[in-house]
Amino acid sequence: MLKFLSMWKKSCRFAKNLKQTKKYMEETVTTNTATQAAIALEDKYGAHNYHPLPVVLCRGEGVFMWDVEGKRYFDFLSAYSAVNQGHCHPKIINAMIEQAKTLTLTSRAFYNDCLGPYEKYITEYFGFDKVLPMNSGAEADETALKLTRKWAYKVKGIAENQAKIIVCENNFHGRTISIVSMSTDPDARKDFGPFTPGFITIPYNDLNALALALEDSTVAGFLVEPIQGEAGVYVPDEGYLKKAYDLCKAKNVLFIADEVQTGIARTGKLLCCDHEGVKPDVLILGKALSGGTFPVSAVLANDDIMLTIKPGEHGSTFGGNPIAAKIAMAALEVVKEEKLSERAEKMGKIFRDELSKIKSDMIELVRGKGLLNAIIIKPKNGKEAWDVCLKMRDNGLLAKPTHGHIIRFAPPLVITEEQIHEAVEIIKKSILSFE
Ligand code: PLP
Repeated sequence: MLKFLSMWKKSCRFAKNLKQTKKYMEETVTTNTATQAAIALEDKYGAHNYHPLPVVLCRGEGVFMWDVEGKRYFDFLSAYSAVNQGHCHPKIINAMIEQAKTLTLTSRAFYNDCLGPYEKYITEYFGFDKVLPMNSGAEADETALKLTRKWAYKVKGIAENQAKIIVCENNFHGRTISIVSMSTDPDARKDFGPFTPGFITIPYNDLNALALALEDSTVAGFLVEPIQGEAGVYVPDEGYLKKAYDLCKAKNVLFIADEVQTGIARTGKLLCCDHEGVKPDVLILGKALSGGTFPVSAVLANDDIMLTIKPGEHGSTFGGNPIAAKIAMAALEVVKEEKLSERAEKMGKIFRDELSKIKSDMIELVRGKGLLNAIIIKPKNGKEAWDVCLKMRDNGLLAKPTHGHIIRFAPPLVITEEQIHEAVEIIKKSILSFE
């Protein structure tokens, strides 16, 4: 019943948002023909699997994006934390262009002269023996699941086809069939069954539930987001990751960190797990590994885990291609050269402090770490998070609601203190316009 109610609420919200978009199109965009034409094209020829905020972007630089009408916006989403290094970072773009002119793809049927240096670079950068390169975050998560199962049979000695992986409620690891099999979001699952077996779901941030689930001797791994990004920037209690890691170690279970969204300086450390001194057995990275220029993802682990997968058992035509290898090295260099972790930590504190000063009963809560933050919006006079995002767009800042009532704020990490203050003024003005 509860599940049904939440699905019903979601579909009402979706229908309402669609209606609002149509209304916006009719009332506001009628004069903006370039915007209207672009939205109409996507609507007619693209699958309706997204519900974008009505704004059509054509250029990005640093923390800013411009729409087809020439209006400038602060980007406070960073393509879901992929553009940590800022839009079109010259060093990353140059690496991409130079390699694109030289050699783009060999497949892994042959060696290429970029992959080895990249593998050496990234493994030393994060302190693991080996890397397995993939493209999207979902593919990297799938890779981690397969790797964990292989390890379960080859090393831990779990009986064939019995291995289980513990996952958390409200997780987000992507959109493939096995990944939605781990999901508890009705939108992600409805009409996509039958699902992949072998997962045990426990509440997030609940060590007792984890300890209980770990009693099952067929458990091979615990897959966790150090902060649940898509769930609405849900930050677990301090000490949760470390204690969860220790519980896993005591039962010879792999601690698998999905840092696709939280990793690469976003939360004020290189990895979010670094806040608690936890080194995952399996680390999953994506998004900002390319600075938002190209789909590049990776799974990192030590030899005892990684070498359980043999030739022919896993791979991808594009995984580890020469352009991706060069881009990822440049993107990771930028993170160090520009001290993006330290910057995210410092700017994040200022941002949360400034947000907390906004006096509006529409802001129920401000939470986050580094520059991965969110506010929870309490609807007022029929206005909710979607309306706040439309208003912020009108005032020059782009962000997107998640789960209806939460707005995530995740600007590129190159943002300056002055820009943070300017952005907070826009957020404040937008929210207070509903008072
Ligand atoms: N894992 C986490 C934690 C994510 O936040 C996401 C995307 O938002 C993914 C995996 C999936 O990444 P992709 O969309 O590149 O497949």
